[in-house]
Amino acid sequence: MGAPEAFTATAEIGHYIGGRVVSNPGARRQAVYNPATGAVARELVLGTADDVAAAVAAGKAACQAWADTPPIRRARVLNAFLALLNEHRDTLAAMITAEHGKVFTDAQGEVTRGIDIVEFACGIPQLLKGDFTDQVSTGIDNWTLRQPLGVVAGITPFNFPCMVPMWMFPVALACGNAFILKPSERDPSPSLLMADLLKQAGLPDGVFNVVQGDKVVVDALLAHPDVKAVSFVGSTPIANYIYETGARHGKRVQALGGAKNHMVVMPDADIDQTVDALIGAAYGSAGERCMAISVAVFVGDIADKVIPLVAARAKALKIKNGMELDAEMGPIVTKEALQRVEGYIAVGVEEGAKLVVDGRGHKVAGHEGGFFTGGTLLDHVTPSMRVYKEEIFGPVLSCVRVPDFATAVQLVNDHEFGNGVACYTRDGHVAREFARRIQVGMVGINVPIPVPMAWHGFGGWKRSLFGDMHAYGEEGVRFYTRQKSIMQRWPESTAKGAEFVMPTAK
Ligand code: NAD
Repeated sequence: MGAPEAFTATAEIGHYIGGRVVSNPGARRQAVYNPATGAVARELVLGTADDVAAAVAAGKAACQAWADTPPIRRARVLNAFLALLNEHRDTLAAMITAEHGKVFTDAQGEVTRGIDIVEFACGIPQLLKGDFTDQVSTGIDNWTLRQPLGVVAGITPFNFPCMVPMWMFPVALACGNAFILKPSERDPSPSLLMADLLKQAGLPDGVFNVVQGDKVVVDALLAHPDVKAVSFVGSTPIANYIYETGARHGKRVQALGGAKNHMVVMPDADIDQTVDALIGAAYGSAGERCMAISVAVFVGDIADKVIPLVAARAKALKIKNGMELDAEMGPIVTKEALQRVEGYIAVGVEEGAKLVVDGRGHKVAGHEGGFFTGGTLLDHVTPSMRVYKEEIFGPVLSCVRVPDFATAVQLVNDHEFGNGVACYTRDGHVAREFARRIQVGMVGINVPIPVPMAWHGFGGWKRSLFGDMHAYGEEGVRFYTRQKSIMQRWPESTAKGAEFVMPTAK
């Protein structure tokens, strides 16, 4: 692959309402940084309750005609969007790298995982098929159908500015809803390109809207009576807040939260595969993935065989501007996030963890202002330490040593988060027991980052998910629709008089 073209546009980033980009000259603004250089790259317009009201009004005006559009025609619009996404995949990936910092090839992978969901949503005619029972009683048929909710909203995190919105809006739109996206204020540019591609694909104006901003916009969406459902992905305290506030306003809510994903390494695990898995899953995307492995749990004596190999590889990571194609790890998203991550390393040392590799203060030549840190490895971490309990969301791997399998399972099950987990072993019985007993929503057996494919649905357990339904897959279709049951009789013209007894099958 030749060198990808960097995203360097400097235009202000506005909202997308009713099919066009809009901005308010008097609005509050916020800088969007390129984390690899530390420089301000462009300016984001922050929305108000009025901007939310305008987006909801646009959605409301458009959603009935869209809901009445036959599902196969809605699928055709998504098919055209799919083709455009494939055409613009590298532009989207370069936008992600420019504002998030992750390496370009990883950003391409993110766009592809979003495209998977669009492909799934193109099957909406089949997914919306209801049930039908002929003759539930003499001369009476009963069937169910699923109808869209109306205007729905999605609030998304910085770490997947394309993929996480695409966990939501392709399914919501396919189901016949209008959608309002509130992207992360750290990397908002892909939201406007996706909006433009949807318009080019033939989506009617007003069916997809973007309101940029912060808590002001989120609170306006949560309070607006015409927003019928809210999907959220982000940190646990905010997920909890969104769930409670949305429910108080009578909305359907799915709120995916933070994580602390463990990888249990059994004494019989393949050493080389384990080391590769730990390096990729702990340090890929600088550990800023909700499915990153942040705790390695070594069972028995395997720790001393694996940790020196992981340490050597962590020290040798190629850390650079993500647009350089041999980069393995890019910068952290913001200066504040970098300070938080490095602060946790100091806390771990104070709490008594052994600092095997210290990534703090990493400098990249030519990018001295960038928000870089190296890969860090902490050993002899215990469950009472903050670095074990709290989500660091950076390239810091904590190693915990336990005597046996049962202790490893208990450790994972006792953690407040339950997003993803992995087990490395060559023993099928251990693998089966692990998958059955572990209190976590997504499990990998010799798979370090088990993000389910588009048609399976994504969701954690415990404080990693508030709400009943997972994102995308058939759960996504259920979330963005409500079931209606219709019972129908076409009687012969002779009336029999009113019935006062509960009807039973005759
Ligand atoms: P965040 O919670 O800070 O922000 C997420 C969204 O909420 C953003 O759009 C932001 O503008 C908004 N927001 C932030 N503070 C708010 C407030 N006080 N009131 C209302 N809205 C607010 O998360 P982030 O830093 O962007 O993303 C990283 C977090 O997301 C990590 O905790 C990570 O584990 C989590 N995450 C989870 C999943 C998952 O599927 N479970 C996926 C990706 C990321």
